[in-house]
Amino acid sequence: MKLLVKGGRVIDPKNSVDEIADVLIIDGKIAAIGRDLSVDGDEDVVDAEGKIVCPGFIDIHAHLRDPGYEYKEDIITGSKAAAAGGFTTVCCMSNTDPVIDDGIVARHVLRKSEQAGLINVLPIGSITKKLEGEELSEMAELAREGCVAFSDDGNPVMKSDVMRHALEYAHMLNLPILSHCEDLNLSRDGLMHEGYYSTLYGLQGIPAEAEEIMVARDVKLAVLTGARLHVCHVSTTGSLHIIEQAKAAGACVTCEATPHHLTLTDEIVGDYDTNTKVNPPLRSEAHVKALAHALASGLIDCIATDHAPHNVESKDCEYAKASSGISGLETAVAVIMDRLVHTGLLHITDMVRLFTVGPCRVLGLDSGTLTLESKADITIIDADAIRRVDPATFYSKGKNTPFKGMELRGWPWMTISGGRIVAREGRLA
Ligand SMILES: [Zn+2]
Repeated sequence: MKLLVKGGRVIDPKNSVDEIADVLIIDGKIAAIGRDLSVDGDEDVVDAEGKIVCPGFIDIHAHLRDPGYEYKEDIITGSKAAAAGGFTTVCCMSNTDPVIDDGIVARHVLRKSEQAGLINVLPIGSITKKLEGEELSEMAELAREGCVAFSDDGNPVMKSDVMRHALEYAHMLNLPILSHCEDLNLSRDGLMHEGYYSTLYGLQGIPAEAEEIMVARDVKLAVLTGARLHVCHVSTTGSLHIIEQAKAAGACVTCEATPHHLTLTDEIVGDYDTNTKVNPPLRSEAHVKALAHALASGLIDCIATDHAPHNVESKDCEYAKASSGISGLETAVAVIMDRLVHTGLLHITDMVRLFTVGPCRVLGLDSGTLTLESKADITIIDADAIRRVDPATFYSKGKNTPFKGMELRGWPWMTISGGRIVAREGRLA
């Protein structure tokens, strides 16, 4: 099987490539990259002139809700949403039911993603059994069964001794801990960022310090243990400062930011639209600007969606009772393109890095490039496509998005997974 992607602007940050070129795929692998690659007639040709051809995008933080919460999402609908949204690899969080805290559940995820047959789904094992924050999960077994990291995302590990031991085990297994940094004693009952707008809207606030205190603790423990710590959905200037210092001191610390924390402020909570409720909460303008700056400067290692689909009932209620989370797989690329790339805040090559080689470095994966002989996972962007966000068209079961109705410029144009075209212009091929 041959596929020739002709005449696109090929951006492959790992190999420092940014040029107009053809990409030839043979039997699911990158066979050649160059100008005017010859056509011998037995290949399918994709005319990519005017488009941006990148390594397949990788999302290291998504909630696919399977097993246990299939009424919110399952691995098949999540895979479809990912393919439509331009992602060829998605790592799914462990807060399922049962929790991904032993090998059986990890195997279920891998088997079901094989059935879906669209993109790569890599499971993240839990840190503690049942996410209870007390006893460590079967970490060695989870690693053996293919888990790429450990996280109790959604449930911060409050006990410092448990986190220390988790980091020690993760270090032995050479896998990172992805930490949801939140001090529950400070954030409890909070509904939005604590500041001017929480006072104005009369909603209980969550101070930035609830995140920063735990980032500081986990950085300390990472230094103590020598383990790899990755801070999930970083959202405050204070967290960025702590991470910057840790990196400067040589600690193995990385972090991610989400499209919503990078582009939306707490002001929009004023409509009491429960789609704006997310954890950590949308922050004030100063934090959002600092995040965008840290993204461009390279302090933030990757963009992750924190795709958190919910059923209608979980969001169609009063603000205090609504579940937290945003369905993000199908809007992430367009939000970053429209709000950060087209506004000049982020260079396109940096965006590609943050969706490809960045997440690979965090997890130690050798994908995220168009290196010859590597698996032909490719995301092609149409930087000028303009579409309005319509959750009714989402493949995800979660229609919960604060970007609903927004017109965005710059969308995934084609997703190629293992040499096969799986999506075109936001629809499955
Ligand atoms: Zn989280």
